[in-house]
Amino acid sequence: MKKVLVIGAGNVGAHIINHGITKHIGAEFFLLDLNQELEAAQILDLKDTLLFSHHARVTGINFDDERLKDMDIIVITAGANQAPGETRCDLLQKNTSILQSIAGQLGELKPSAIVLLVTNPVDILTQAAQQIFKLPANQILGTGTLLDSARLRWRLAEKMQINVNHVHGYVLGEHGDSEFVAWSSIRPEIELSEEEKNHMAEDVKKSAYNIIAGKGATYFGIGAATTKLLNAIINNTKELLPVSTPYPFIANERLIKTPIGVPAVIGATGVLRTPKIKLSDDELTQLQKSAEKLQQLFESCPIK
Ligand code: NAD
Repeated sequence: MKKVLVIGAGNVGAHIINHGITKHIGAEFFLLDLNQELEAAQILDLKDTLLFSHHARVTGINFDDERLKDMDIIVITAGANQAPGETRCDLLQKNTSILQSIAGQLGELKPSAIVLLVTNPVDILTQAAQQIFKLPANQILGTGTLLDSARLRWRLAEKMQINVNHVHGYVLGEHGDSEFVAWSSIRPEIELSEEEKNHMAEDVKKSAYNIIAGKGATYFGIGAATTKLLNAIINNTKELLPVSTPYPFIANERLIKTPIGVPAVIGATGVLRTPKIKLSDDELTQLQKSAEKLQQLFESCPIK
């Protein structure tokens, strides 16, 4: 079984393991949090599901444990949330410094290890992780717009009255305000007015805010989305999934290669490749603007 370390035992970390156990993806899970009381409670709760699942294992672990060197996949959900009055730059710097401290405490990883970022802002933290961890870029990816695309697809499926697994299409760009629906990618095609399209795209974008307003956090969707990625890596399924990974292009004579939500082939070594996507001119402009915005934020908030 592949060893999967989940760092951060909050709602998101616990739901990733819960979903991973239920889906029996062939992983042995380890959970690590600075809050050891929380970590122990989550482990107890998760172990209560083992009788009702196929073969799985879940264990709590600390930063001084020798077994950390053997982890195949490291999922990072640890981080602080944006506090009132804080800017995105403040949040980025805070979570980057958590990432640096985690990398320092983990020490050297297996050369084949994969680092999967979930913590927000996920695209820029993936870029920071690519500087912090000494691994090839394809082995460091973020959950990107996989969750946003899931949010789009169930809405389209309800409208089309078709099973959600047979409705395809992507939300691309930043996992955040500059993301957009690539309407040219939607299959089967659907006739929607501009107003309906704008309404659905806005509904998808605001979804996290609406969930947080009602229940304080989002975790079912990201738990399932992250499990999908873990399964693709562990079982080398080569699925095309929109993750945070570089999609380089030149703008104003500069190479922009900030990780951004684009469809990538996911398998045993992480991102196997990023096929060229066929987008309308307008969609390509939106993708590039989103990447430029992230690149600017990354450059204006240097890693301390
Ligand atoms: P949470 O606050 O419940 O949990 C975070 C945990 O991280 C806490 O238990 C904290 O003790 C732990 N932690 C902090 N620093 C640590 C360190 N150095 N080492 C180990 N553990 C540490 O938050 P949550 O609701 O579980 O969300 C986690 C992250 O996932 C947030 O950044 C959230 O925005 C993000 N998220 C991302 C997506 C996505 O699509 N990428 C979706 C939902 C949530």
